[in-house]
Amino acid sequence: MPLLVVGSVALDSIETPTETRENVLGGSAVYFSYAASYFTSVRLVGVVGDDWPEAHTELLRSRDIDTAGLKALPGTKTFRWRGKYFDDMNTRETLDVQLNAMGRFDPVLPDEFRRSKFLFLANGSTDLQLKVLDQCPGASLRVADTMDLWIRSQPEQLSELLRRIDGLVLNDSEARLLTGDDNLVRAGHKVRERGPKFVVIKKGEHGAMFFSRHETYVLPAYPTARVVDPTGAGDSFAGGMMGYLAEQDNFDPRTLKEAMAYGILVASFTVEDFSLDRLRKIERADLEHRMEEYRRMLSF
Ligand code: AMP
Repeated sequence: MPLLVVGSVALDSIETPTETRENVLGGSAVYFSYAASYFTSVRLVGVVGDDWPEAHTELLRSRDIDTAGLKALPGTKTFRWRGKYFDDMNTRETLDVQLNAMGRFDPVLPDEFRRSKFLFLANGSTDLQLKVLDQCPGASLRVADTMDLWIRSQPEQLSELLRRIDGLVLNDSEARLLTGDDNLVRAGHKVRERGPKFVVIKKGEHGAMFFSRHETYVLPAYPTARVVDPTGAGDSFAGGMMGYLAEQDNFDPRTLKEAMAYGILVASFTVEDFSLDRLRKIERADLEHRMEEYRRMLSF
């Protein structure tokens, strides 16, 4: 089943305790699409400026990612994000965000894209997420991500979004910010009570928690000793999760749990290098191999 994603398409600058990289390929929709492409074909909706290297589009196309919804806005620059990681590699600070083209983007989806059954509203302005939601009335699974910038600046739009989606994926600090509750179990359910049928709270190196009306559980992260750059882990998690659901054309509780596990495994590869560099070197078989180890690790 084709999976549609809208979100940021970015040039990132990343500072880790040992290395700095300037203007590397990033963005929520980019990490998401690439991660999902191990499982299904992807339709990408996003915007870039004059500074966008065409080679990045070609890389995405090489993975069965349909870029018909990737618009170039002349006279603008691509969205830019600069972040810095602290010694534990789990905490980061945003040093700079420039919305650029994304701040002026008014998406008009190709007809075929509007008929997508699986929809993911990756990190980007809540206004933009709502505009895409409006254009896909027939989607059967609508899941969104959000982050501190949008929780603070677009609270009303976010309330509307929560009422209109089936699932929300967000990280632990964002769940606390959104609910004012430090206990993540309570926070997960509080978010769920605002609309979505399920909520996933990502906890970085500590894995991810799932909340629905009938279930609350946590899956650990896959333990990797090689953490080079955690950027995009959350988006790759979502891409792996949604990609698997779209591939299975199913989102019952059991498939959702398997999908969470695939998300965790794709993310574990993403952090092993900068940008998409590690994902570019793996195949579906590498994910399946890690899945076998992960299953063994969890059985006792
Ligand atoms: P993650 O590490 O999964 O949270 O995602 C990091 C990616 O999100 C980077 O590639 C950034 O370009 C992108 N990003 C950072 N801030 C924002 C924002 N406010 N809206 C959309 N995308 C963002």
